[in-house]
Amino acid sequence: MATELDTEPTSEINPIAAQDPSVWRYIGAEQERQASTLELIASENHTSAAVMAAMGSCLTNKYCEGYPGKRYYQGCGFYDQIEDIARDRATELFKCEFANVQPHSGASANAAVFMALLEAGDTFASLVLADGGHLSHGMKLNFSGTYFKPVHYPLIYGLDHEKHEQIDYDAVRALCLEHKPKLVVCGYSAYPRTIDFAKFREIADECGALLMADVAHIAGLIVAGEHPSPFPHAHVVTTTTHKTLRGPRGGLILTNDEEIFKKINRAVFPGMQGGPLMHVVAAKAVAFGEALQPSFKQYAKQVIANAHALATALSGKGYRLVSGGTDNHLMLLDLTARDAELTGVDAATWLEKAGIVTNHNGIPKDPRPPRVTSGLRIGTPAVTTRGLTEADMPQVAEWIDRVLVSRGDTDVADTVRGEVADLCKRYPMPH
Ligand SMILES: *Cc1c(COP(=O)(O)O)cnc(C)c1O
Repeated sequence: MATELDTEPTSEINPIAAQDPSVWRYIGAEQERQASTLELIASENHTSAAVMAAMGSCLTNKYCEGYPGKRYYQGCGFYDQIEDIARDRATELFKCEFANVQPHSGASANAAVFMALLEAGDTFASLVLADGGHLSHGMKLNFSGTYFKPVHYPLIYGLDHEKHEQIDYDAVRALCLEHKPKLVVCGYSAYPRTIDFAKFREIADECGALLMADVAHIAGLIVAGEHPSPFPHAHVVTTTTHKTLRGPRGGLILTNDEEIFKKINRAVFPGMQGGPLMHVVAAKAVAFGEALQPSFKQYAKQVIANAHALATALSGKGYRLVSGGTDNHLMLLDLTARDAELTGVDAATWLEKAGIVTNHNGIPKDPRPPRVTSGLRIGTPAVTTRGLTEADMPQVAEWIDRVLVSRGDTDVADTVRGEVADLCKRYPMPH
């Protein structure tokens, strides 16, 4: 089996290969890793060559502090055009009025919204990280938990309850009426179910809060019409551009409210950031252009069909699906239903050796600590980009189960890794 550095630089024309073989070796090795393994991390995807080319372009050379038409540097004309294209496509995709395309990441987008809409010490409501929330939604060590006061709403918990481990909207309402948060945050990192944005807005209105929907994970499904839109319900929407939306790593903030938009623009720059990454803004424009194509709708449909097929196959092998199933691109497996001794971190480590890349993740009320966990998070956005369909999912589930039942046996891992690599040859990386 190839070790990480067996891969020699392959590109004759790539300037990195000639100029800096030490870095290129690793890029080449990573290229090979991505091509020969199954990427099942729910927050990852494979971007197109066009998106990557935009990120690797001369646009990285320029300072463009400010916004189109209002820059602090000369020479920004073409950048204004590019940022306008990105903003127009973003609002067209999400069917809303205003977009800020400059946040460097999803967490930066959230930080900017907090800065725009809250004062230090203000209370906001969210789902806790351990139940599927994001660290930028109030984790103690994060800015959101350091400078603001999170109150967390629970999931329904009751093994006999039809909505076990789903958002408890009655509890959200009760919590918000009690604590009167200024902002209610919905949208999650490990939540396999549909989010009822209208219900969240009702609750936000009742307690006098603004509603923020962080759709980082499901943005691609939303723009394709495969998950209900947060508009017109949310006052502000944040997202990453690199998950189901399949763009460059980055953030995006959207709203229909002009006053909020002004505050957000000030919070992004000069509040939180200096110069925008215009090569990434251009890559966002290219990715949004791709997401506006009819083929992207087909892609999002297939992502969900694949998640459903994989969830069904894994459930058939004795893994418990947190919340009982999936409506979107991801599933959270409770591994202990298959084997009480199995931990998330062991499962993810063994699977990686077999060419199947996932991440360990806590499950609701997980008795194990975050570094261990009882859960495995699995998503289908990246394998769907490669072209895998429902027909491939029983095989993927069989590989996962074979590796986990063997408890990481090296022979089994090597065999599966070979089989995975063979399948990967049939589904080349996007160009
Ligand atoms: C991934 C994610 C983010 C953060 O994105 P980064 O780009 O890693 O900063 C924010 N919110 C949610 C819900 C996420 O899943």
